[in-house]
Amino acid sequence: MALPPSSFFRQEIGKMAAYKVANASGFIKLDAMENPYQWPSDITEQWLDKLRNCQLNRYPDPDAKELAATIRKLNQIPDQFEILFGNGSDELIQILLMALPAGSSILAPEPSFVMYRQIAQTLGLHYHGISLLPDSFELDLPTTLDAVKKHQPSIIFLAFPNNPTANLFNKSFLIEIIEASTGLVVIDEAYAPFADATLINDLENHENLLVMRTLSKLGLAGIRLGFLIGSTGIIEQLNKIRLPYNINVLTQISAEFALAQQDLFAVQTKKICQDRTTLLNELNALPQIHAFESAANFILFRTPKSKATAIFLALKEHGILIKNLSPQAGLLTDCLRVTVGKPEENLSFLSALKKILANL
Ligand SMILES: *Cc1c(COP(=O)(O)O)cnc(C)c1O
Repeated sequence: MALPPSSFFRQEIGKMAAYKVANASGFIKLDAMENPYQWPSDITEQWLDKLRNCQLNRYPDPDAKELAATIRKLNQIPDQFEILFGNGSDELIQILLMALPAGSSILAPEPSFVMYRQIAQTLGLHYHGISLLPDSFELDLPTTLDAVKKHQPSIIFLAFPNNPTANLFNKSFLIEIIEASTGLVVIDEAYAPFADATLINDLENHENLLVMRTLSKLGLAGIRLGFLIGSTGIIEQLNKIRLPYNINVLTQISAEFALAQQDLFAVQTKKICQDRTTLLNELNALPQIHAFESAANFILFRTPKSKATAIFLALKEHGILIKNLSPQAGLLTDCLRVTVGKPEENLSFLSALKKILANL
């Protein structure tokens, strides 16, 4: 009898589902928190000139030293901290979790970024999700502190702002959790370009604190570059697990070039934040919808009871792809998530949504 393929691997892998990405071709794409704007053609030409000089026959700089210096300067990272690059922050989460002792506990709020749980489970670690408070999506501080005490998690992940709820947690709660934890605390600042908040300045006060960022949401999702900031000692250990050439030469050159275009990104992110307010107000003007405040480039909204999937599918019929979170249940029951797109994309989304609600 043939062995089932899953029998070759760890038990938990057989039980998992792969991370599914919807096919977006032909859709107005408002599902993945991408920046909707492309570069003006003169900037694209300058970028192509840089790529022309790039040697694809050579391995990339294993430490991406130039890029590290640029990122240190732009993010005002103090000298006593080190930077670890990942092929997206997803890879950094994987590196962190791979370094932990077998049987370690991981803690994160629920709902939050699904990769924390997904990667913890593939590695056979114990994942503990602590429910946020309903409606406000604020951290449940007493319950979280109890769970920290009970499970002694090796790593706590806190997304700031949180995905998929789009809110910033109370910063003093984050500090309390960091101080109560004997393990590491990773503050995931993937949406920093849209939120006026960071814990980078708190790094020097907490030796178990790490701050993680990515260029994906800023407008560079395609090049896959994330970075983790922490004490030299911690990053030195993690660097042993990182594969030597994880940041390819095209990413290093493109990121270096793109980060020199600060003005361009500043204009784009400012525009996205303004359009976020418009979209939020338009959504909340619809009596059947409740949209939650956002400090990121997307909006979570609640639809009428048991209608989220029907609305999601009807939007697809109209050529608009957003994210259906209702299947995740719990606090996300009846909820959908839309990324802030270009004004004309947001209008298409709203007009389709209005039609769908009228015929519900
Ligand atoms: C999108 C997202 C990431 C992943 O970013 P990549 O750098 O593209 O891998 C990490 N954390 C949160 C909270 C996110 O929403």
